[in-house]
Amino acid sequence: MNSEHKFNVAIIGAGPAGIGVALGLTKRGIKSVVLIERNDDIGGVPSIYKKKKSGIPTFINWIRGRVIFGEDYAGWLHQKLSKTDVRIWRASKVLRIDPERKSITLVNSEKGPLDITANAVVLACGAREKSPVEFGWLSGARSGRIFFSKNLLELIDQHDILPLKKPVVIGSDLNAYAIAAKLKQSGAEKVAIIDNRQRPKSPLFSRLYFRLWKSKPKFHAHVESVTFKGNGAPSAVVLDNGTSIPCDGIVLSGDLIPNSELALLARLKMDIPSRKPMVNSNFQLSEPAIFAAGNILGGFHGAEWCYFNGLKVAKKVAEYVKNG
Ligand SMILES: Cc1cc2nc3c(=O)[nH]c(=O)nc-3n(C[C@H](O)[C@H](O)[C@H](O)COP(=O)(O)OP(=O)(O)OC[C@H]3O[C@@H](n4cnc5c(N)ncnc54)[C@H](O)[C@@H]3O)c2cc1C
Repeated sequence: MNSEHKFNVAIIGAGPAGIGVALGLTKRGIKSVVLIERNDDIGGVPSIYKKKKSGIPTFINWIRGRVIFGEDYAGWLHQKLSKTDVRIWRASKVLRIDPERKSITLVNSEKGPLDITANAVVLACGAREKSPVEFGWLSGARSGRIFFSKNLLELIDQHDILPLKKPVVIGSDLNAYAIAAKLKQSGAEKVAIIDNRQRPKSPLFSRLYFRLWKSKPKFHAHVESVTFKGNGAPSAVVLDNGTSIPCDGIVLSGDLIPNSELALLARLKMDIPSRKPMVNSNFQLSEPAIFAAGNILGGFHGAEWCYFNGLKVAKKVAEYVKNG
């Protein structure tokens, strides 16, 4: 193997967590770090949400004490990274990791398939929303009126399409409030949020995001089930307490699963069915040279949490590579 392809640390995924790990390692004097990203752009999920004149910023930057656009947040991370000697490999999708040989197989859009080795590997591949098939119950004529928050955000932010005028959002986490804010800003008449909880999961975000508006979406607590009313496209949803909410479509939010296929393929210990890689207090998987950071760890966290988690993981990775 050519020495070009030997690194001290390889980080898979250049979202807020992976960039946090890279910056944390540099701060600790660790050299020969490569950040591998399958997309052409780095920044992960925040980089998808473009800055728009009439848009709603929903990414928090505590350091600057502001709520900013995803694209600006990604740009801020990128700028910090450009002052380091971290190697960035874009358009490079990792297909496999081999913990015994400490090698990674990836495919790069120009160079084709190649193998690299690293003393430590960090999985920072993020999480994704469940597909309709994984949800199981989303079938039949009305599934066309059920949106996943990420697809809906892409329609609104990247294509200026507003498919719902009276949406009901199921879930009350950060993501649910981000999508509710964008729906309202894009012209939705009324947005309702329902959840089986007593209070919104992310009350802080509900306050932050709606500071810019005159009214917050109405929150319906303790909802265990909903029934659609209307033939074909729904005209309303009826909650289990009998409340009827006018509605032309549903947005599902917050049911994320870790992008942990690489750990699964490498036969590392996983929690099933959540698909979280099992880590110790040092963020190491069942193979000590492999670490995990950010949303791949499970739960659902904002971009800033993932960035700070990446810095924390970097401390443990630095200790590991320094001690050989
Ligand atoms: C729909 C949605 C809306 C959100 N809205 C907000 C919001 O408004 N405000 C907020 O603060 N947070 C928001 N979040 C949360 C925030 O974006 C995430 O918590 C954060 O981006 C997670 O950081 P991460 O680095 O763990 O993962 P990601 O940002 O997902 O980055 C993971 C990176 O890994 C790359 N990758 C994955 N697999 C491979 C592979 N095999 N090879 C190479 N590269 C790979 C991906 O391309 C990606 O760039 C939202 C999340 C979602 C899903």
